[in-house]
Amino acid sequence: MKRRFAFGALLFCCCVFPSQGGEFEGSRHKMMEEVLATSGNFPPSSSVMAAMEKVQRHRFVSAWLTPFAYLNRPLPIGYGQTISQPLIVARMTDLLKVKKDDKVLEIGTGSGYQAAVLAEIAGSVYTIEIIEPLGKQAGERLKSLGYDNIKTKVGDGYYGWPEAAPFDAIMVTAAASHVPPPLLKQLKPGGRMVIPLGTHFMTQYLMLVEKQADGSVTTHQIVPVSFVPLVGGH
Ligand code: SAM
Repeated sequence: MKRRFAFGALLFCCCVFPSQGGEFEGSRHKMMEEVLATSGNFPPSSSVMAAMEKVQRHRFVSAWLTPFAYLNRPLPIGYGQTISQPLIVARMTDLLKVKKDDKVLEIGTGSGYQAAVLAEIAGSVYTIEIIEPLGKQAGERLKSLGYDNIKTKVGDGYYGWPEAAPFDAIMVTAAASHVPPPLLKQLKPGGRMVIPLGTHFMTQYLMLVEKQADGSVTTHQIVPVSFVPLVGGH
């Protein structure tokens, strides 16, 4: 009986707390297979798939959530915030059509995971978080993981990062009531922005905003989503 319990405990530990190396690669691959299988008519590009196969999502959540890090689910990151569902991360990243020399701005650093995925594809990523402890923790985490092409800042992302503008692409990972005019101004002509629009208690839609070469703007409604609100002084 005792031996059976010990074996069960060992099996539980192996399944739930896999070793840091190969086991997590397998889990990541499975997660991406599920993302692909559930992405319907919009499979992520090969560069997005490769980036997400590489980024160690378990390093962006608390240790107690490690066993759940490679589920296709959002997860809590503290302060009432979440790391987004991998399917949504894939879709939003894909919509930006990021190229290798692009400069990308992200609003809502959270854990830093989305910034890391963007940094695997883009030349440089600038990311802003309004909750100071989250922003500082993400900054340290990204540095320790070797992401030297990511710059982090604590502040209100509504106003963007004017000193670093213009950006080829902008991703907002919290729901706003409207497209912040400072962000539109900081987007390059020909650039793309993805942003969830709507209020916390009503339907939100992920929107693709494209700034044409002549400066005119077009918007497309993509898919209903559920994001925490963009807060701040605006
Ligand atoms: N991208 C994150 C990740 O990969 O973990 C998840 C983002 S979470 C869904 C949204 C984040 O936006 C939260 O961390 C929240 O504090 C932040 N946020 C909300 N309003 C903001 C603002 N005005 N400026 C910057 N960050 C903001």
